[in-house]
Amino acid sequence: AAPAPAGPVPSGAAPSGVPAACDGPLPVLGNDVLVPLADGGEVPYAALDCAASAPVLRRVWDDVAAYAPCYGSVHRGAGHLSQLSTRIYEESRAEVARFLGCRPGDQVVFTRSTTDSLNLLAAALPPGTRVYVFETEHHAALLPWRNADVTYLDAPRSPAAAVATLERALSAGGPGGPALVCVTGASNVTGELWPVRELAAVAHAHGARIVLDAAQLAPHRPVDIAELDVDWAAFSGHKLYAPFGTGVLAGRPDWLRDAEPYLAGGGAVRTVARNTGGGLDVRWHTGEARHEAGSPNVIGAHAVASACRALTEAGPDRLVAREERLTARLREGLAAVRGVRQLSLFGDDAPRVGVVSFVVDGLHSSELAEALSAEYGIGVRDGLFCAHPLVRTLLGGDTAGRGEECGAPAPADAPGAPGGVELRAVRV
Ligand code: PLP
Repeated sequence: AAPAPAGPVPSGAAPSGVPAACDGPLPVLGNDVLVPLADGGEVPYAALDCAASAPVLRRVWDDVAAYAPCYGSVHRGAGHLSQLSTRIYEESRAEVARFLGCRPGDQVVFTRSTTDSLNLLAAALPPGTRVYVFETEHHAALLPWRNADVTYLDAPRSPAAAVATLERALSAGGPGGPALVCVTGASNVTGELWPVRELAAVAHAHGARIVLDAAQLAPHRPVDIAELDVDWAAFSGHKLYAPFGTGVLAGRPDWLRDAEPYLAGGGAVRTVARNTGGGLDVRWHTGEARHEAGSPNVIGAHAVASACRALTEAGPDRLVAREERLTARLREGLAAVRGVRQLSLFGDDAPRVGVVSFVVDGLHSSELAEALSAEYGIGVRDGLFCAHPLVRTLLGGDTAGRGEECGAPAPADAPGAPGGVELRAVRV
């Protein structure tokens, strides 16, 4: 493909190569950033690494800019701006609850990211909880449970096999005691959708709870906690067109209420007093504040809520339809290139979001990623995508010398580790 012509993309116009039928995007920041090319030219940046971090919606940025000059400390004073910020923070919580289809009584805890949310839940597990997690998960969902009694489930080769695998594992686990299943809604490697509702039904039939890693699902598909019947869902603001630094854990209040505060400090506590033994008597909050110690990231919460509102108002059906057109076009294009293999766990026809990973014969992913950037101004993610066991399975077990360490540079002679691109309806 020839590089797109130099110069900023006019607002609302489709970039070079995208058919008119795919118009109708939500404007994002960064569209008009020009990338210097190896041949001396420049092109508008094409952000196809949104699965790692998405560009910020212009509307979110405008909302933040409008509020930022007048923010004040949250839950900490009667001053006008403090009251305003407290109201905005709590309204943001309510907006996120609506976006996620929370049940009455569910809590929405603001965290730093999906990783933080799942670590918070891991820290709140009742004693003796058994955890079930597929080896195919992103490290953020695979690793936080290491102090619990964890059963790692083998990679299933179809959604039905995933359900059967979980059913077998929970049956073998026997009755009694708390149990938690952790599953992603959409894979950050293959884009494939997981059968969340069915897995939730199996979990609940065995008395287990389930947490949904919605980091990739929420930016692509509506997430409805009540309808999916999951106990918790977690996502990250920076993958949902808001800036970095804010995540969400939403769902059942009881385990969170009964757990020790995730962080100890102001905001999480109701009263602190010296006791006669020389120590402290501490009464912690029982609501979301219990796990939000310290001055909260009110701008981050406001930005996440703004992104939730923008996606809802844009119309999920319209966004999904556009994303599906773009994804089909990308997959067909890649399929037509000799030496390119797209990665899939459940098979080519499995339902998926617009996340695509592929290997190119004889080319290390970091070389490919560098070439796409230097020659075409296209940003993609390369490497093993923080899901090492999954990528090893997809590559037939052998990733030796293929950039298997996070952040490790590619050895000069290393062939064919994956490169991934993602298309979203929101991308201009
Ligand atoms: N889960 C999935 C499926 C992801 O794709 C990611 C990030 O890539 C995460 C969890 C972790 O998100 P964060 O890095 O924002 O904590």
